[in-house]
Amino acid sequence: MGKPKVATASLAGCFGCHMALLDIDDRILKLIELVDFDKSPVDDIKKFTGRCTVGLIEGGCCNEENVHNLQDFRKHCDILIAVGDCATMGGIPAMRNGIPLKECLDEAYLNCPTAYNPSKQIPNDPELPLILDRVYPIQEVVKVDYFLPGCPPQADTLWAALTALLTNKPLDLPYELIKYD
Ligand code: SF4
Repeated sequence: MGKPKVATASLAGCFGCHMALLDIDDRILKLIELVDFDKSPVDDIKKFTGRCTVGLIEGGCCNEENVHNLQDFRKHCDILIAVGDCATMGGIPAMRNGIPLKECLDEAYLNCPTAYNPSKQIPNDPELPLILDRVYPIQEVVKVDYFLPGCPPQADTLWAALTALLTNKPLDLPYELIKYD
């Protein structure tokens, strides 16, 4: 039997949670003994090659592409984990949630002091993913099995969670590894 597979994605996130995963340092060698990476920015595989045991999601959903990507992860992963505050609560991108979307776009493309936009057009090419009315934490879009808070979660938290789940142990993290900052 082959090794279990892990997939990862960054939706509306900053890749800081992926950096935290790489922060496990030399334990990455042990991780590679335990698992194969499937669809992930870690190995640049763009499409699922098969069923995955664990899917790690960084970031919430701010556009329709995020939603499709997240639904694809839910379909292909036995266990889905929300990694970090953006996935679990929307995080910094969700700061726009209290402001109407049009106002956000006007500020970004027309009114902000550094905007250079002689056409006065807000980008609306059909090739661009449709922006959602607000930023959604991922559990508002699909069922999520576990949440690892933090901005980002500590590398030790990610390591402890992954190794427990991949070795069929209960995910019972000590208090020190659950931080909401
Ligand atoms: S939780 Fe923090 S580190 Fe992770 S994607 Fe969001 S802003 Fe970046």
